[in-house]
Amino acid sequence: KEVLICIKNLKKYFEVDKHVFLKAVDDVTFDIYKGETLGLVGESGCGKSTIGRTLLSMYAATDGIVEFDGENVHSFKRDKEKEFKKRAQMIFQDPYASLNPRMLVSNIIAEGIDIHQLFKGAERLDRIHELLELVGLNREHANRFPHEFSGGQRQRIGIARALAVQPDFVVCDEPISALDVSVQAQVVNLLQELQQKYQLTYLFIAHDLSMVRYISDRVAVMYLGTIVELADSNEVYTNPVHPYTKALLSAIPIPDPDVQRDRNRIALQGDVPSPIYPPDGCKFVDRCSAAKEVCRHQRPGLIEISSQHYVACHLIE
Ligand code: SF4
Ligand code: MG
Repeated sequence: KEVLICIKNLKKYFEVDKHVFLKAVDDVTFDIYKGETLGLVGESGCGKSTIGRTLLSMYAATDGIVEFDGENVHSFKRDKEKEFKKRAQMIFQDPYASLNPRMLVSNIIAEGIDIHQLFKGAERLDRIHELLELVGLNREHANRFPHEFSGGQRQRIGIARALAVQPDFVVCDEPISALDVSVQAQVVNLLQELQQKYQLTYLFIAHDLSMVRYISDRVAVMYLGTIVELADSNEVYTNPVHPYTKALLSAIPIPDPDVQRDRNRIALQGDVPSPIYPPDGCKFVDRCSAAKEVCRHQRPGLIEISSQHYVACHLIE
C-alpha cells in the first residue's frame, strides 16, 4: 500500500490562558494510504476535527510532522501551499453553518474554481452544472440560495464544492451527523460512489463506531487527543482490544428498529477528563476498569499486536 499522508508525533495545543494549554491532539502517529477510507472515531471533544484541520494546514501544528506525498505540509510556501489546498479538501459537519446564506449555490460550488482560476465564463457554468448533477442535484439549483434546500441537499452542495477542484484527499468531518437518519445512507453512498470514480482518499470522522463501520477500510479510535487503537475495520469490530474501544462498541445500538437504543449499553465510568489537565499516564485511566498502578504514571505507546493492528494499553505488554 502506498502512503498518501504520514503523520508523525503530531501535537496541536491551544493556549486557553497564559501558559495553560488545551491538548487537543497530543502526540499522534499514523499513516493514511492512497485510496483508502480511514475512519477516525471518538467522543466529541477528543480532537478528531482538530486532527483533520491540522492535516489540511488550516491549523499550524504545535509539534510533529504531517507529510503529504512525502512533503511537509506545514513548510509549504505560496504556490506549493495553493496546490496543496487544491489537492486536499474538507466536507464540514454542519451543512447549515458551512454554506454562506447570502451566496448563490453556483458561487458556493465555484469557490475553489475561482480561487484557483480553473474555469471562466461558460466553461465555469458548465462545470457547476456538471458538479450539481454529479452530486444528485440539478442545474436549476445553481441560481438558488442555501436556505431553499434540505439538510441532505445542502450537504450535497458541500460535497460538490469540495470536489470542484478535483482533490486527491478529503477530510469528511462528521458529514452525516447533522442529517436525518433517512438521508444519512444516501450521503454515505454518494461519498462512496465519488471515491470510486475519482480514486479519492478519505479521512472520515465520526463520533460513533456504527457509522464508520460501513464506509471505512481501517478505523482509528481516539480518546482525549491520542489514538488508542488502529486496525482494519473488521478487526476493530470483531476483535477490539483497547478497553475504550470495547466500551464504544458496546454502546452501538442493536440494528433492530424495535429494540430500544439504550438497551444493553455498558456505560463508561465517570466523565471525560479535561483536555487541559489530562491524567499523567494513560489518559483513559480514570474510566478504565482494568487500570493498574503503571497506568497512572506511564503513557502507553501504540504497539503493533498483530499485523496492522495497533493498540496503546499496558494490558498488552
Ligand atoms: Fe486501562 Fe491501563 Fe490500558 Fe489505560 S493502559 S486502557 S488504564 S489498562
Ligand atoms: Mg468535531
